[in-house]
Formats: sequence, C-alpha cells, structure tokens
Amino acid sequence: MDNKRVVIVGAGLGGLRAAEALRANGFAGEIDIVGDEEHIPYNRPPLSKEALKSGLGHEDLKFRQRDSIADVCWILGSGARSLNLDEKTLTLENGEELIFDGLVIATGIRPRLLPIPGPTQGLFTLRTLSDAQKLREAIVPGENLVILGSGFIGCELAATGTLLGANVHVVSLDSEPMVMPMGLELGGAMRRRHEAKGVTFHLGRTVSSFNGGEKIESVTLDSGEVIPTRVVVEAIGSVPNVEWLEGNDLDLSNGVLVDHTMRVIGTDVPVVAVGDIARHPSVLYADGPRRIEHWNMPTETGKRAGATLAALLRGEAPTNEPFAALPAFWSDQFEYQLQSYGLPGAAASSKVVSGDLEGPCIVEYFNDNGHLIGVIGIDTVKELVPYRKQLMNTDSSSS
Ligand SMILES: Cc1cc2nc3c(=O)[nH]c(=O)nc-3n(C[C@H](O)[C@H](O)[C@H](O)COP(=O)(O)OP(=O)(O)OC[C@H]3O[C@@H](n4cnc5c(N)ncnc54)[C@H](O)[C@@H]3O)c2cc1C
Repeated sequence: MDNKRVVIVGAGLGGLRAAEALRANGFAGEIDIVGDEEHIPYNRPPLSKEALKSGLGHEDLKFRQRDSIADVCWILGSGARSLNLDEKTLTLENGEELIFDGLVIATGIRPRLLPIPGPTQGLFTLRTLSDAQKLREAIVPGENLVILGSGFIGCELAATGTLLGANVHVVSLDSEPMVMPMGLELGGAMRRRHEAKGVTFHLGRTVSSFNGGEKIESVTLDSGEVIPTRVVVEAIGSVPNVEWLEGNDLDLSNGVLVDHTMRVIGTDVPVVAVGDIARHPSVLYADGPRRIEHWNMPTETGKRAGATLAALLRGEAPTNEPFAALPAFWSDQFEYQLQSYGLPGAAASSKVVSGDLEGPCIVEYFNDNGHLIGVIGIDTVKELVPYRKQLMNTDSSSS
C-alpha cells in the first residue's frame, strides 16, 4: 500500500481529518490535498463572529498540523475542474492532471445566490477568510448593512455587524429568524434579543432589486420599501460544490450520496466523501441520508472515511459498524451562546423544559411519536451535556 496515492479534493476541515484518519489507519502512501483557496485548512466558524469583529487572519485561524500528516503534499490555489473515475484521473483548473488510487471528496458547499436584478458591487457572501476580510473592510459604523437571510449565519452576521457599529437590517422570507432549525418560539425569542440590540428585521420579505449605478446604493423590498445601503450580504443557504464530479454517474442530487462507511455509492473505485458535501446515512436519521452542515461532521465523517479508504486500498472490506455521530452545533450571537444537539429542525413539536425563553433556557424537540430527537439551549452549555447520551439512544431517536 506504500506506493499507492490518495488525492483529497478540498483543503478544509473534512479533508484534513480524512488525511489524519488515513495515516491513523495505516495508510503510508502519498497523500495530495488539492484546495482552491490559497490556505492550508483553517477554522470557518469564527468568520461570522470573532474573526470578522477583530480582523483575525489565517495565522490565528489555521488548524494545528499533526506530525502524522507532515509529509502530505498541498496543491493549493487551483481547484479540481473535472474527474474521470474510469481512468482515476483528476484535472485541475490550471490543467494539471493527477492520477490516484483512492479519492476523498471534501469540497464542501458555497453560499447560494438569488437572481436579484441590479448592480452587484457591494454584494457579499461569507464562506472563506477572504470573504470575511472583504466584508470587514466594507462595513462602516453608522451606515446600514442589509443581510438577506435569517439562518444561523445571517443572525451571527447581524450580531457582529451591530457590534461593528453598523445599522443592521435583516430581510427574510421566514416568519422568525432561525425558524427552520429552532422553531417559531425560540426563533421569536432570539429575534427579541437581536431587536433589543438594535437589529431591524423585515420578516416575510425578500429583496426585489438592488439599486444604483455600478455600485449598490439601496435595496427595494417586495413590499416596496427602500433601504439605503452600500453593503448587502446574502446568507440564504448553500449549494454543494459537486460540479467537478459530473459525468461519473454518481448521485449528486444533494451533495454526494455515500453509504454508512462514507464510501461513494455508484462506483467501484475507492472513493469516499466527507463533511458538508457528504449525504450520509446514520442510525440517528429516521428519514434516510442527510447532509449536515455542522462543524463536528467533517471530523466524524472524516474519521470514518479515512478508515474506509485505508481498508479498501489494502483490499479489505470496510467496517460494518453503523454510523451514528450525533449532530452538534453551536452559535454565538451577541453575548448569547446557543448549543444544539440532534435534529431539532426535523421535530414536530417542542417544549421549554428549563428556564424561560427570555433568559437562559433549554428547549426539547420531539418527533411525531413524541420521542426526543433534539435539544437547544441558550446559555446552558453545561446543562445540555447529559442530552448527548440520551439522544444517542437510537431506540427513541430513530423511531
Ligand atoms: C461563516 C461560517 C460560520 C460557521 N459557524 C459555525 C458554527 O458556529 N458552528 C458550527 O457547528 N458550524 C459552523 N459552520 C459550519 C462549519 O464551518 C462547516 O460545517 C465546516 O467548515 C465544513 O467543513 P468541510 O471540510 O466539509 O467544508 P469546507 O470547510 O467548506 O472545506 C471545503 C474546501 O473545499 C474547497 N473547494 C470547493 N470546491 C473545490 C474544488 N473544485 N477543488 C478544490 N477545492 C474546492 C473550498 O473552497 C474549501 O476550502 C460555519 C460555517 C461558516 C462558513
């Protein structure tokens, strides 16, 4: 196996964890990590929080490099353009061709953009360090900042923009911020906290045009209201980065479909997928494979994928053990710390079980059968820890 070569496409957390897991599972051959960004992997969650607020750079955010992967070859600054699985070749944007024995798909997601007419100078998205640096330069204290979308990233941006001195307007079709993952009650409680800090919400609304010459000077909402602004951030969801995989008969309908070992379905070639892009099954998901865009998933899927690929390259079968990583998510907005475990977004009902919605609280989420499938706490991080075990109990969570 020492003369085999694995190419990992995507130099993010998932790619990094997959490389570490390959080494931990005895793969001693060459590992090349291809990334379209200029950087070795860094931590993304601070980009909407501390890094945006304080201007942190790559040195502050980069992940520690373990000794086990000191010999990997980083091919940065030119992404993958196309893949030929029959020939086991990968072509990069710069025309370079790489041949591999095993492949890791770790290209994550990118922000989705709406087709809104008007100028685009002044329009931002937030996924990379470079996005965060450009946005930080554009935000001006005392001026309006319009954020389109009221999910976690939109709300984190609203908090950080306010802390940077901007007058923040959040425009969202939803009836409450973060309503999909949290539900109406907790979403409403978070809205009130944001409003108390000065954030203005335009809910049930979207932007119908950006106005101005070359640069955005204002936005018009579908209500006709005009908000003057030079900076707009779109945070309305994501698109998996799968285009480079097309033409290989893989299921790319929502990310890349994999089995419980993270092996990509639809090919005999040893290929695995990890992180935000991997639509994976779990004994914890009652409704089939899911993509989970949470920070803990690149690590959980990366560990499993590295073990799988190392086994396949040895000519062995990967583990039969079911995959059962608990989705876990946190979010910092102003001084409030939100922590989520399980799948609250898939719940049919919820109940406040500790505290009240205006202060520190714990909200439990239940499926149709009344089984606990998720929990979210505000400023109750420690109190939430016992739920991890409870939610891993598949007798209740998957039924
Ligand atoms: C602003 C922000 C805030 C977040 N906050 C939180 C949080 O508070 N809590 C939480 O749990 N999670 C949070 N997340 C989510 C978490 O960061 C992600 O789940 C995690 O980074 C996913 O890792 P990944 O390796 O799958 O993808 P990524 O980290 O996105 O890595 C994929 C890499 O592949 C590259 N790539 C794409 N296409 C190609 C190509 N064709 N060729 C080569 N390279 C390519 C991308 O540019 C990127 O560098 C946040 C994410 C963002 C963007």
